[in-house]
Amino acid sequence: MIRAFIHASKVLTGEGILLKEGRMLKPEDVSAIDDGAVVFDEKKILWVGPTRELPKKYQRAKTTDLRKKRAIIPGLIDSHTHLVFAGSRAAEFARRAAGESYQKIAGEGGGILTTVRATRSASVQDLFQSALKRALIAYRFGVRTIECKSGYGLDHATELKCLEVVKHLRQALPQMTFVSTYLGAHAVPEGVKKSTYIDEIIHRTLPEVKRKGLAEFCDVFIDEGYYTIQEGERILRAAKKLGFKLKIHADELGNTQSTRLAAKLQAHSADHLLCVSDQSIRSLAKADTVATLLPGTALYLKVPYAPARKILDAGARVAIATDFNPGSCYSLNLPLMMNLSAMQMGMNLAEIFAGVTYSAACALGLEQSKGAILPGFDSDFIVLPYAEFEELYYRMGW
Ligand SMILES: [Zn+2]
Repeated sequence: MIRAFIHASKVLTGEGILLKEGRMLKPEDVSAIDDGAVVFDEKKILWVGPTRELPKKYQRAKTTDLRKKRAIIPGLIDSHTHLVFAGSRAAEFARRAAGESYQKIAGEGGGILTTVRATRSASVQDLFQSALKRALIAYRFGVRTIECKSGYGLDHATELKCLEVVKHLRQALPQMTFVSTYLGAHAVPEGVKKSTYIDEIIHRTLPEVKRKGLAEFCDVFIDEGYYTIQEGERILRAAKKLGFKLKIHADELGNTQSTRLAAKLQAHSADHLLCVSDQSIRSLAKADTVATLLPGTALYLKVPYAPARKILDAGARVAIATDFNPGSCYSLNLPLMMNLSAMQMGMNLAEIFAGVTYSAACALGLEQSKGAILPGFDSDFIVLPYAEFEELYYRMGW
């Protein structure tokens, strides 16, 4: 059935952002149409433009009049989350916030190991139920596409179990798009030699994930105390050979030049970049690799934010995501991350808009169908309860 929304206060199509491939954006690149209309069917957007120019052939479509009170924007895209895990780290959060170090808590068997233990002993059904609740929270924040990583199993069976959960989410919530990422190299499992685990990732888990179609992306946490740049490159090259698209948790805790590796391997994104070097920024600017910034994590870890202005002014593409995870950012509120991007990272209106639409779609390889309101794109947009897009992130944490 063909439907139309008419008299939207504004329709932000994102066309200007698309034309510039998300680089060097000015506020007007959001391409706002005043008193706009969108015509669409179950699958695709058919027409977008000013309501007064609505083509005759669509005038009999089932119409909803927004009376210039509500704006339409593309469905938001959260391109970096760790949605699937079990257990709670609330008590640990309180201790950390009160001043205890993560190292001390981790040394007592807390930190990520708490989550790994809980996730290993959880059933697929329990993991699914908790992930489903979280996905619905994201939905209420306007998120329509969400990336979900494994990485709290750190063994073959549990990593597969977590990716299975994403498959179930896809069936349960067809109104959302789920992109799944295998992040077996998230940390080193307790009591296992790192080289043995890497061999398992390369020779056993990656091929099985591929064979079962459980993930489109492979991600590696390259950082001090986690995986070295050589180990990361080995895993990612093996993944690429099998047909996975790539992501890297890059230059978060220290500068490992992993952002540069992401550009070299033509990864879809390099994520975090809190400690990225100028040299790596230059290589990003020349590449298609998206810089995915996660300001909620900097806030949570009480460390300086990523140098967003430097990265943007160099000409790189920037996505903004929540990094939702139980340890370093327990928030699914993507508009809050947009607020931090404006207030703490100095990003302009179009940069923030692109960060959760077009550029986030690029980070997931979905830029042909998501992140813009143009004919031929998916019927994937949200009608805001406000007349202006800015309200979405002006309202901090609403
Ligand atoms: Zn992450």
